[in-house]
Amino acid sequence: MNIVTKINEWREIRKNLQNKNIGFVPTMGNLHQGHLSLCERSRLENEVTVVSIFVNPTQFNQASDFDLYPRTIEQDCDLLKSQQVDYVFLPNADEIYHDQYQIQVTESNSHSELEGLYRPGHFNGVLTVVLKLFNIIQPTHAYFGLKDFQQVQLVKKMVDALFVPINIVPCETVRAHDDLALSSRNNRLNEEQRNKAAHFPRLLHSDLSVENIITQLKELGFGVDYIVDQGQRRLGAVWLDDVRLIDNILLK
Ligand code: AMP
Repeated sequence: MNIVTKINEWREIRKNLQNKNIGFVPTMGNLHQGHLSLCERSRLENEVTVVSIFVNPTQFNQASDFDLYPRTIEQDCDLLKSQQVDYVFLPNADEIYHDQYQIQVTESNSHSELEGLYRPGHFNGVLTVVLKLFNIIQPTHAYFGLKDFQQVQLVKKMVDALFVPINIVPCETVRAHDDLALSSRNNRLNEEQRNKAAHFPRLLHSDLSVENIITQLKELGFGVDYIVDQGQRRLGAVWLDDVRLIDNILLK
């Protein structure tokens, strides 16, 4: 496995991969089985798999969330090596944002709904960094988790709108034994919070109405940003103290 930190270094490598299918998995690190499932899918479908680890400052709404985001590069690289990933791209923010954040991708629709409403600017930050990474890596396929449902929808819309020749592959959410969606933020839950967190997917999967789910979550001590049925999906975002969890399920 090769670790690449400079954009020019990758460009040289990329020149020698012209006729290969390249699968790309963008991440912010602190990797778990959810991320690894994306890598595995990429490995099955491509000759070369590239994983990026970059904690993107522009998609965080609170400086504290960015500062507290777990950074575990060495452990991540060991995991990726064991997954037979070919390249890990670890860019630094100065190179990615050499324009001092002047040029950004803006989406004008979802800023008023769900994650977009509760996390102003979040999706502009996500789309900007994803487009930069796509233009650097130039993959054939890119793998995204359905856990971040709005994110994968928006990335699909972006590549369509901007004619980016990359196939976006949505991948199923990987869950813990008690159905909690795996997330790097779960590491910030103490034992009591972690036990309580399992009520979130349990209630999402229940036959209760959205209103009843919200009531029950609040009674259990969750803060609730939203629980919404939208098309075929039920989406939710909740807080346990200062840790925010999101999830979504396919409705029966
Ligand atoms: P992140 O490092 O949180 O930015 O996530 C990187 C990618 O992994 C995104 O496409 C996420 O949707 C995906 N991902 C995160 N958690 C899971 C999970 N539990 N199951 C499947 N994919 C996930």
